Order: sequence, then structure tokens, then C-alpha cells
Amino acid sequence: MTSPAAPAPTEGDTKASNFLRQIIEADLDKGTYASRRWAGSPGDAAHQAAGQPDPAKIRTRFPPEPNGYLHVGHAKSICLNFGLARDYGGICHLRFDDTNPEKESTEFVNSIVDAVQWLGFSWESQGSNHLYQASDYFGFMYRAAEALIEGGHAYVDEQSADDMRANRGDFTTPGKDSPFRGRTPAENLARFREMRDGKLADGAAVLRAKIDMASPNINLRDPAIYRIRRATHHHTGDTWCIYPMYTYAHPIEDALEQITHSFCTLEFEDQRPFYDWLLERLTEASLLASPPPRQYEFARLNLTYVITSKRKLAQLVNEKRVAGWDDPRMPTIVGLRRRGYTPDSIQLFAERIGVTKSDSWIDYSVLEGCLREDLENKAHRAMAVLDPVKLVMTNWAEVFGSDAHTEDCTQPALPHSAIAEGQTPPPDRVFKIGKEVWIEREDFEEVPPKGYKRLFPGNVVRLKGGYVIECTGCAKDANGQVTEVHAKVIANTKSGTPGADSVKAKAAITWVAAVDAIAAEVRLYDRLFSDPHPDAGGKDFLSALNPNSLKVVQAWVEPSLASAKPDDKFQFERHGYFVADRVDHGVGGKAVFNRVTGLKDSWGK
Ligand code: ATP
Ligand code: MG
Repeated sequence: MTSPAAPAPTEGDTKASNFLRQIIEADLDKGTYASRRWAGSPGDAAHQAAGQPDPAKIRTRFPPEPNGYLHVGHAKSICLNFGLARDYGGICHLRFDDTNPEKESTEFVNSIVDAVQWLGFSWESQGSNHLYQASDYFGFMYRAAEALIEGGHAYVDEQSADDMRANRGDFTTPGKDSPFRGRTPAENLARFREMRDGKLADGAAVLRAKIDMASPNINLRDPAIYRIRRATHHHTGDTWCIYPMYTYAHPIEDALEQITHSFCTLEFEDQRPFYDWLLERLTEASLLASPPPRQYEFARLNLTYVITSKRKLAQLVNEKRVAGWDDPRMPTIVGLRRRGYTPDSIQLFAERIGVTKSDSWIDYSVLEGCLREDLENKAHRAMAVLDPVKLVMTNWAEVFGSDAHTEDCTQPALPHSAIAEGQTPPPDRVFKIGKEVWIEREDFEEVPPKGYKRLFPGNVVRLKGGYVIECTGCAKDANGQVTEVHAKVIANTKSGTPGADSVKAKAAITWVAAVDAIAAEVRLYDRLFSDPHPDAGGKDFLSALNPNSLKVVQAWVEPSLASAKPDDKFQFERHGYFVADRVDHGVGGKAVFNRVTGLKDSWGK
């Protein structure tokens, strides 16, 4: 299902209610978390009990695993968690869920920190820094595992992986108890310590929660909570050779950090009973503060024409289908940023798509619409000719006395409608007009199709912001390709002068003067995939790659763009929004602009 483009927002509707807001509001009303204490850092029940009443009304967290670059789906989760904390007097933690030593690295840690900050969020609040890493909790997780064993809630299982799988049963068959399930707590404790001390080989045993092998929820059939894995962790090095499983680690991380509302995507719904089971055991053992956090699930973002699987995105990078993680066609946050997306536009998008409990597809045009809305009143206008052909005004010397004569033209940097009341408009753009100007090749037709209003012999048009001209013909090369368009300039018709309207022009066309235009490389990006659901139903997403997702052209742009700095955004009149490339613009004196998006939603039309 594709949602239609959302209507333009009206004042006040940007904070629409949703089921997560309702849950938070109900908890605030009831004072569910009012008695919590916070010792200034994550910790167990005793640590928190010694603290002050928690100054944060709610605590949420964004818990990425540092195993890849964040993408637009993560942006939804970031905006949601940080946004809700902000709106309800709470604090959102950034937590690296780094419990899996094999795939994680500090490169990814740094990129995640950058991405969250760039989106406009901060984990610093009330003088403290709420950036945490789950690997700091390994000590507590181990202690909690021993407590579960002592309470008869966990056992070391030494079945082979195959037997364990076979004995788990399936949706229709209950599981079978492991022959190791009946071990005493003392036996289990001794064996678990041997696991920790490196006495057992990788994979030789796991610690399992002892719950119910016949549960209709397979996640409750004695899930594994610790495994043996000799791997060097990017943070804890070789301290541990056993590592907690994600489903065990995550609830504990939330509880140690005094998270109140733990928001995750729908695929974790079946894990919620284990989340609750585990935290109940650990709060009743007085290891964790009460009340424990609660988990709530929302639908993940699915965006048309986009894939958000980290594995598939890595494949695009590794196979050099794109130029890197920050290729402007990538849905990564670094890619969107380089493409020209702004933090405000992404926040607006997250707000507009809202949160629901059922999966659906959001149309890519909704994201583009948010960007246009953000840039409409901010991006300075400029003229750029992307497919240039020269236009020569053959009577220039006759009218102005010399072929070398030039004049200054001015145009506003922002249209009147973009200037808020009381705001000073930015200075006008100034550019020259001379005998020769660059125009778009498509703005001339020797034999005009019906209804064509631009340049053809005998027609009169305005060079926008300059003079009115009458087309007289063209010059062509041996192949019949137009090499020059010819026209006569009409005296006393310059824009902004009293005679400007004395001659009626059929159209106004964009142009830049040959004397002061700046050469620029313009990268015309389009969607990376031509299929709206590139990887749905196990499709080969590589075969859906859009062969025309990047076209590079040598363009001429107006001189006001000489001062453009990397990341500056512009509206190139009639062409759309462009950004000075944050990597290549200015390198070796070269100007490089990326197309962010067109002016209107034209995809597929
Ligand atoms: P992995 O397969 O590596 O676990 P992941 O996309 O789940 O990939 P995480 O680093 O675990 O990556 O995600 C961090 C947070 O972002 C999680 O809370 C997850 O629910 C959320 N998230 C990930 N993808 C989306 C998405 N498409 N829409 C909304 N939230 C998402
Ligand atoms: Mg995940």
C-alpha cells in the first residue's frame, strides 16, 4: 500500500497525536514513573536508590548497533525517540548496542555520533552526557546471569546446535526438554564459570533461560542468553570470551539506564514477553530498580524506491554500484546530507509520516516534498544553464555602440513571498549581460512544435532579468546540430526600467552571460532504483538499479554562485534545488553542484 502524498501542513498540526504520545501522556497522568531515582549514571537497583528523584520525566533511548551507517529508517527512530523525550520533559540516551563483537567498529560509532548530532539532537541534558555503550554493562549482565542460575531460572545447555534446534519444536509441536535442563543451580553455576574462564570451546555450551519448552511463543522456549565466542571486542578487548545474546542484553541495558519507554520496531513484538519475564526476575531479585521499563512497538519506515537493509546497502558500496556510503543516491544519513537534504526537512518528514502499528509504504515524494517545503523560503535563487548553447545578439554594437559593452542586471535572491514580515531581504544578485549569452539548448527550435513559446525565428522572448530579444535564426554544423542561436536585442526593454513592458514577450527564458558565467560540474541525480519496491518479495534488487540515476553535465552558472560554500543550497530557476557538493566543491577551484530534487514532483509523469 502506498500512502498518498501528505497535504501541506497547517499551523499546529505538526505535532499530531499518536499512540506512543498517548501511552506517555497516560503514564505521566498516572505517575507511573514518578518515584524513580537517578544516580547520575546507569546502574543497578542499589546504585539508583542512592540517587535523587529523576529530573527526567521520561527516558527514551536510540540504541543502534555500530555495525553500519545509519539510514533514513534510523532517522525516523532518532526523531521519534529524541523528539518524544524533548516534548515531554524527558531525556533520550544514545546507546551503542555493542554486545556483538564481530561486526562492530569505531568507524561506525563515530559516523553514528555525527549523524545524530547533524539531525539536530543532543544526548547532553542538565549538565550530563547520556551517551552510553552496552559493553560497559557486561559485568552486570554476568552478575545477573549468575543470579538467574541461583534462582533456578537459567541452566547451561550442552546439547549440539542441531539437537537444540530439533528439540525447540515449531509452531505446531511443543519443544522437548534438554537432558541438561535438570542440573542443579550449583552445577550450573560451576559450569557457567567454566564457560567464562575459557574452559569450554566456542559453541560447546550456552546459558539458557529456564521458562517453558511448550510455550506457544517459541521465544519463550528457554532462549539462549549467553554464548561462548572468542572474539576481540572493539571496546572490551579480550576481557570476555562469553557474550550475552541481544534479547537478554537489551532489556537489561534499558533497565540499568532507567529507560521508561523502550520503543522498537514491530519485529520485536514476539520478544516482549521475554523482555518482561527477564526484568521481572531481576527486579524481584532486587538487582534492578522498579518499576522496570516497558517495550512498545511501532511500524518501521518503508520508503518507495529505497532499500534500508544494512546488508544490501553494504553490497551496493562493496560492489561499487555507488561511490560510497555517502553517495548522494544512498538512503544513508551521510548520503542524504551530501545530496542536499537538511536536518529540518528530515525532522519534518518524520513528524509528517507519524507512527503507526501497521506496516505500510511511504511514497518517496513525501520526503522530497518536505525538502522543497524547507528550502522554498531559504534557498537563494540563481540561474544556471545545464545544456548550454550560445545565443549571439547580432545587433549588439548597433544598439550599445560596441560589441564589448556590458551592463549589470539585478534580480532578488529570494522572491518577495519568501520574506517574512519585518525580515530584511538578502542583497540582490548582480550579473552582467553582454553580446553573447548561454541559453538552454531546448529553448530554441528552428521549426517550433505547436504551442512552443520560446525561441524560434521571428518570436520575441525576454532574457529573464535582462532584455527582450527577437530570434532571427541559427548557425549549424555539418551534422545539422545547432551551434549558435541568433537574435536581435530590443533597445530600452531592460527589466526594471520604464520601457521594460513596451514590447510584449511571449516567454521569459533563463540564461547566463558568456562574460561572467562560471563553469560548473552539475551532477543530476535521480532515484537509485526504478522499481518502487526494489527488494520486495526476495526480488533481485540489483536488477532494479536505475541506469540513469546519475548524469554529469558541464554547465554555466551565474556569478553569484562564486561565493557558494560546500553544503550551501540554491534553487536553480526552473531546474530545481541544488547543493554545492560537500566533498568536491571548491577542490582545485572547481565548482560542483548536486541536484537535490526537481521543483515539482515529476517522477513517473
Ligand atoms: P540490524 O539488522 O543490523 O539489527 P537495524 O536496522 O535493526 O539493523 P539497529 O542498529 O539495530 O539496526 O537499529 C537501531 C534502531 O533503529 C532500532 O531501534 C531499530 O528498531 C531502528 N530502526 C532500524 N531500521 C528502522 C526503520 N526502517 N524504521 C524505523 N526504525 C528503524
Ligand atoms: Mg537491530
